Amino acid sequence: MAENSSSVYGYDSRDSSRALSRLSPEPQALRLISYEAARRLQVLPLRVDETGHLVVLSLRAGDMLLADEVRALCRQPVTMVQSTEASLLAEIDRAYQFSGAVARLAGESEAVRTQERDEYDDASPAAGIVERIIAQALRERASDVHIEPGETKTRVRFRIDGHLFNALEMPLAAHPSVTARVKLMAGMDIAEKRVPQDGRIHRVFEGHEYDFRVSTLPSIRGEKTVLRVLDSDGGSMTLDALGCSHEEMETIRRLLSGRRGLILNTGPIGSGKTTTLHALMRELKIDEFNAITIEDPVEYRLPHATQVQVNEKSGLTFASALRAVLRQDMDFMLLGEIRDSETAALAVRAAITGHLILTTLHCGEATAAPARMVDMGVPPYLLGACLRGVLSQRLLRRLCPHCRRSVTGSAAELRALDLPPETQVFQATGCPKCGGRGYLGRIAAFEILKVSPALAQLIVRGATAAEIASCAQTEGMVSLRRNIASLVRRGVTSCEEALASLGE
Ligand SMILES: [Zn+2]
Repeated sequence: MAENSSSVYGYDSRDSSRALSRLSPEPQALRLISYEAARRLQVLPLRVDETGHLVVLSLRAGDMLLADEVRALCRQPVTMVQSTEASLLAEIDRAYQFSGAVARLAGESEAVRTQERDEYDDASPAAGIVERIIAQALRERASDVHIEPGETKTRVRFRIDGHLFNALEMPLAAHPSVTARVKLMAGMDIAEKRVPQDGRIHRVFEGHEYDFRVSTLPSIRGEKTVLRVLDSDGGSMTLDALGCSHEEMETIRRLLSGRRGLILNTGPIGSGKTTTLHALMRELKIDEFNAITIEDPVEYRLPHATQVQVNEKSGLTFASALRAVLRQDMDFMLLGEIRDSETAALAVRAAITGHLILTTLHCGEATAAPARMVDMGVPPYLLGACLRGVLSQRLLRRLCPHCRRSVTGSAAELRALDLPPETQVFQATGCPKCGGRGYLGRIAAFEILKVSPALAQLIVRGATAAEIASCAQTEGMVSLRRNIASLVRRGVTSCEEALASLGE
C-alpha cells in the first residue's frame, strides 16, 4: 500500500526535495492541456517525465476512454496516475490560476511594471502568488518560508518539522514583484533594496491567527526573503501535547511547586525550548500572579502575562529589561535566554531573592548546565542555593502512522541506542497523508535533572558534569538517550531520526 501510494503522486519519498512537487505542477505540463479541458475531464497535468510521457493526475486513472481523450488533447503519450485528493478540482483551479499569475508577471517588462502605480495591490498577480505561497505554507504546517533568487529561477522552500523542502519554483523575472509585495505587506520600504529589513505580517487563515516575522537580506542575485511563522496557537501547547510522560509531568510539577528558584532548559537551537517554557508558565496559573516574559522575539502570546520584546538596537537588552523587571514586584519570569555573564548574574540574583525564573541556556546535556553557569561567572555557592532543576530536550520528527514500516533495526543503530539486538523498529516511508516525507509532526524528548540536596552540595563544590550525571542517575534520572531510545522502541520515531537528534 505504501509503495503504491508513494507512486500516486509521482515522487520518491527518499528524495525530499521533490516531495512537494505535486503542489506545483510544471508550467510546461499545464500548457499542454487547457484549463477548461482540465476542469471538464477533472485531470491535473503534473509534468513530462524522462520518457516523454505527460503525467496526469486523475480520480479515474483506470478509465481508458478518459486516457484516450487526454492523449488526443495533448498529442503525446500519457501516464495516468490515481489521485486520492477529494479536492482535485480545487487543486486544478489553484494550479492554473497560479501558473497564469506567474506567466503574466514574468511576461511584463521591468518598464511596464515600474509604470504601474498599484502593481503590488491586492488585485495584482504578485499578490495572488504571495497569497498562494502563504496559504500553502500554513496548510503544510511550515515554520519558515524562504523566497530565494537563484541563477535562473526563484525557489520557494518551506521548513517543515525542522527540514527544508522545495515548495515551488518561478521564473526569476517574477522575483522583484513577489519580493516587493511581501515587503509592502510587512510594512517595509519597497524602494530600499541594499540593506536588510525586517517587518511583520498578520494573517487570519482558516479561522486561526498567524503572525509572520519577515526579514530580507540583499544577496548578489537580489533580495532573499524569509517569513517565520509565529503561530499564536503554538504557545498554547501543554506539557502533555509536547510529549511529556506522566512521570516527567509529576517531576516538573514538583520543580515548579516551590514557585521560587532557577529552572534551566537546555538544548540546541530549534529544539523547542521556548515552547516548553511557555507550557511551564501555563502550569503556574499565572493570572493570580505578576508574570513577566522577556523574549527575543516574542513568539507566542501568553494571556495574563506582561511580555517584553528585547530590542538590542534601542538598548533594551535581556540584562537591562531584567533589571527593570526586578523593580516591578514580579513573581514569575520567563527569560528567553541567558547569553552573557551579566544576564546570568541577574537571573541568579532574582532566583535567590525568592522569585521563580524559567530560562534557556545553550548547552548540550542537563548535567552540563551547572558547569556552564559557573563558566559564565556565577559563583558555585549561589548556583547551588537557587538551582532547582534543569531540563534538556530534543525535538524529533514523529513517523507518519499511516505509512511507517516495521523492520528489524540494524545492529549498529540498535547498539548506539542501547537497544537489544533484533529489536523491531519502524522506518519512514512516505504517503499522500504526510506529503511523501514519512514523518508527520514532532515530539519532544526530555531529560530532567531535579536538584536534590546531595546534588546541590556537588554543585556548590564545583563538580564536573560527569560527577553530576552519575549522582543524578543513582537518584533515578532517566537520560535523554534512554528516553529517545524508548520513542524508537514504541515506533514513535525512527532510529535514523533518534541518532540525528543525539548528534550521531
Ligand atoms: Zn505517510
